[in-house]
Amino acid sequence: MIQLDSGVWFGTGTHANTLALVDGADVTLVDAGWAGDVDRVIAQLAAIGRRPEDVRAVLVTHAHIDHVGGAAKLHERYGTPVFTHGAELAHARGEVHEQVAPWRVAATAWRPRTLRWIRDVARVGALGHVEMPYAQALPAADGPLDLPGAPVPVFCPGHTSGHTAYLLPGGVVATGDALVTGHPLSDSTGPQLLPGMFSADVDETARTLDAIAALDAGVLAPGHGDPWHGDPADAVTQARS
Ligand SMILES: [Zn+2]
Repeated sequence: MIQLDSGVWFGTGTHANTLALVDGADVTLVDAGWAGDVDRVIAQLAAIGRRPEDVRAVLVTHAHIDHVGGAAKLHERYGTPVFTHGAELAHARGEVHEQVAPWRVAATAWRPRTLRWIRDVARVGALGHVEMPYAQALPAADGPLDLPGAPVPVFCPGHTSGHTAYLLPGGVVATGDALVTGHPLSDSTGPQLLPGMFSADVDETARTLDAIAALDAGVLAPGHGDPWHGDPADAVTQARS
């Protein structure tokens, strides 16, 4: 993992990222990657001197399986609580589906690299299914959460119904998939939206980036792609263009 700020660590899995907020002995994770990457997440925690039992909660930006597969594994093994925005709860619990099927990705974005991506993600759980009936809603009140690192939820729906970014210590923003800086299926790097087929509502995704643009922050840590340093408002302008 790389340290983005004091106690804020950024790790990469199979084309998907994880953040760890370390506060004393305790940890909050923001997203936990694919189910098949859970041991990689645990190894990354070990590298910063923490155990999976130290994780007080996994906050998920949204319930797509590249973000919650590892969370479900941590819950199964260690009882780790999993939190989503209330508007994401039905998706997280498996009561509704908002995920593009791999066959549809292949049909609409046919290129050799699409197949490579599908091959990579199939190995870590892309053909599986994750339901988390135990997922809990974040508190309805605004403001910092009573969890290690005191992350602040930033509601930005569109990619999914309850997609939520998190403002972290040191002005780092976990943007999830509302704004990314790269993806195996994208031609470019830098602030951008994911290919439209991945999002439930592309227009809403672009519109609700206002919430990220307004943050007083200096680093964006996306669900896919590298961390980006700069003013969130500039990143949002780039992503929309
Ligand atoms: Zn994703």
